[in-house]
Amino acid sequence: MILILVPNTLPESSEYKQLMAYLANLPGITTRVHTEVGAEKTLTELYLIGNTKSLSTDEISNLPCVDRVVRVSEEYRVLGRHQNDTRSTSFEYNGVTFGQDTLNVFAGLCAVDTLEHVELMMKVLQQEGQTCTRMGAYKPRTSPYSFQGHGSTCLPYVFDLAGKYDIKVIAMEITHEVHLEEIRTALHQTGSPTGVMLQIGTRNTQNFELLKIVGRQQTFPVLIKRGFGITLDESLNAAEYLASEGNRKVIFGLRGMKTNMGDPHRNFVDFSHVPVVKRLTRMPVCIDPSHSVGTRAASPDGTLDIMHATAQGVIAGANMVLVDFHPVPNKALVDGPQALLIKELPHYLEDVRIAREAYLKRVELARRFNT
Ligand code: PEP
Ligand code: MN
Repeated sequence: MILILVPNTLPESSEYKQLMAYLANLPGITTRVHTEVGAEKTLTELYLIGNTKSLSTDEISNLPCVDRVVRVSEEYRVLGRHQNDTRSTSFEYNGVTFGQDTLNVFAGLCAVDTLEHVELMMKVLQQEGQTCTRMGAYKPRTSPYSFQGHGSTCLPYVFDLAGKYDIKVIAMEITHEVHLEEIRTALHQTGSPTGVMLQIGTRNTQNFELLKIVGRQQTFPVLIKRGFGITLDESLNAAEYLASEGNRKVIFGLRGMKTNMGDPHRNFVDFSHVPVVKRLTRMPVCIDPSHSVGTRAASPDGTLDIMHATAQGVIAGANMVLVDFHPVPNKALVDGPQALLIKELPHYLEDVRIAREAYLKRVELARRFNT
């Protein structure tokens, strides 16, 4: 059971103390406090853990400071969408809003290779009015002999260039807790010219110890990718690990499933699950058409499969798109064959705009027919 308190409730107030004393006396129930400090108001939620079935919602609603009571299902307690649950589905980070109603495109390099390529990419993003990108520094590779990413050595120039080109958020995968510290240090040393969204890749979706560490910090939002060989439920529970440790700035990423049934694409595209994740949870949903499709193949209509897959996700309500671009794909050290060309960015963004507009029209249509 979640008790949502009246905004700006002070822990020093006598009403709050009265409420806590009441809850402390409930047998077999422990209380966990979560506070979200916003620009205008502070929201406090109390999680009652234990046998809450016997508690009366009405009685709890009438306790001092309590605004609303949400009875949670067992699944995805923090991130889940529960009955009568009107809690927010969005958050802000470094001036960018991420929610179930917004859309942000993160076009960029799968892996940082040279400073020049990072700069070429960011320059064109700025020209196209984009404020987010993807830049991989730590790459989990199938072969130990493949390029593993430049790691912390590239961070200072990536962050400096992001500041120069007004990039607000960089999605960056981490595979070890040390990387979190390296990112923190590099941001500090460069004067925090940009923000970072930590990415948990599909190979680490169930790396529970990493999830707990990333979940314990609330500085950086997290994009967690769906595990490519596990059920959706297992992946959503992995996301819940982050939230249960305190970080609710979590975005869920669909990136295709590993099965030969998806051939000739690299993975089987699973973007029909965009609305499913939005129904089951309050997380914004990201799609990664590059790692799911994995090729620059085009259909006879002249549109790349990656663009078709992007449109499928966006028209179904995706909130974030993570997509590989590269100035010289044949020189890319990772995933060159699936990278779009810089000159294709305007085409790509216009295609995304068309799909988004269609999605918004479809929402309006549903509203009209449902009322
Ligand atoms: C990536 O986004 O660079 C990546 C490795 O993705 P995934 O974890 O989905 O394979
Ligand atoms: Mn990649």
